[in-house]
Amino acid sequence: KPLIFSGVQPTGNLHLGNYLGAIRKFVALQDTNECIYCVVDLHSLTAQLVHDDLQSQTRSITAAFLASGIDPKKHIVFNQARVLQHAELAWIFNCVARIGWMNRMTQFKDKAGKDRENASLGLLAYPSLMAADILLYRATHVPVGEDQKQHLELTRDIAQKFNNDFSARIADLDIGVEMQVGEETVNGYFPITEPIIGGPAARIMSLRDGSKKMSKSDPSDLSRINLTDDADTISKKIRKAKTDPAPLPSELDELKERPEAENLVGIYAGLADTTKEEVLRQFAGQQFSVFKPALADLAVDKLAPIAGEMRRLMADPGHIDAVLRDGGDRARAIAETTMKDVRDIIGLLGD
Ligand code: ATP
Ligand code: MG
Repeated sequence: KPLIFSGVQPTGNLHLGNYLGAIRKFVALQDTNECIYCVVDLHSLTAQLVHDDLQSQTRSITAAFLASGIDPKKHIVFNQARVLQHAELAWIFNCVARIGWMNRMTQFKDKAGKDRENASLGLLAYPSLMAADILLYRATHVPVGEDQKQHLELTRDIAQKFNNDFSARIADLDIGVEMQVGEETVNGYFPITEPIIGGPAARIMSLRDGSKKMSKSDPSDLSRINLTDDADTISKKIRKAKTDPAPLPSELDELKERPEAENLVGIYAGLADTTKEEVLRQFAGQQFSVFKPALADLAVDKLAPIAGEMRRLMADPGHIDAVLRDGGDRARAIAETTMKDVRDIIGLLGD
């Protein structure tokens, strides 16, 4: 039976990339699946250990989940630090994964920058905590933006190595499940998780630089549209977004050679829930002086109700904390069942 897991870090203001690439998919998946959505506060420490507004950012991401339409009664919404098993399984996965696997991660290279020796050890080990987040619930599917594809592949590698290294023990204890890995049917404890990536907004780029993805942690606020920006700010950021002087083309192939233009068309398509082709059919031959205001109107239309609801929810932090506490209790119950098995598989003595 499918189980959906995903997480968002409390590292700053949520932006259009987070919404279109991840949160909106979380909402769509909840109608037909069991879902667990997590504010991954432990992950946020990899970038910045001292974090003055960590608590309010954790609440704000939660508010965005709820304001976007995630139902915390039917599904589990919680923050990672409440469930200690995440850190426990991450340690075990640190011993399953190889240093070489981590060194190859492009997010590590991007975030560590030139002074790699000075990056936190946590930043290097980030993907192993992410694998733990997912596999603690034996989740089968993970909706994410395209930037997380490589980490999802690593999660699969960790699950496979664990299943393989402990195959005899898993068989002895009779706690494995049959699963398909490529051509083969194998018996394993952890599922080989599938990413859910795609659509026109799987990778939204910075409004200032078409070669960088839009990020919460980008120092330039003009690089992103925040979920909570007001109408004037959204219009200003789109007006100032970097573009080229040519009008929009009619063919997708031509658009592909113009990353900034393609990005704005992708954002429009994502917000309107349509395809880039369809947006081009509507705007082919138009100048950005026409397209940008249309995009700004659409963005305000879609984001203003979410921002309003987030503000309403943030006025009552007690309610948000109660949601996280309840979600944490339910998550912990599942997580501890998994960890009992894992300790048993490995041979760690415990109760
Ligand atoms: P940070 O810069 O701190 O890493 P972030 O913007 O990358 O912040 P995350 O919390 O790391 O946000 O990611 C949350 C989810 O949003 C993930 O599923 C990620 O793939 C997705 N996501 C992040 N940026 C984009 C983007 N530019 N386009 C589409 N999806 C994105
Ligand atoms: Mg990120």
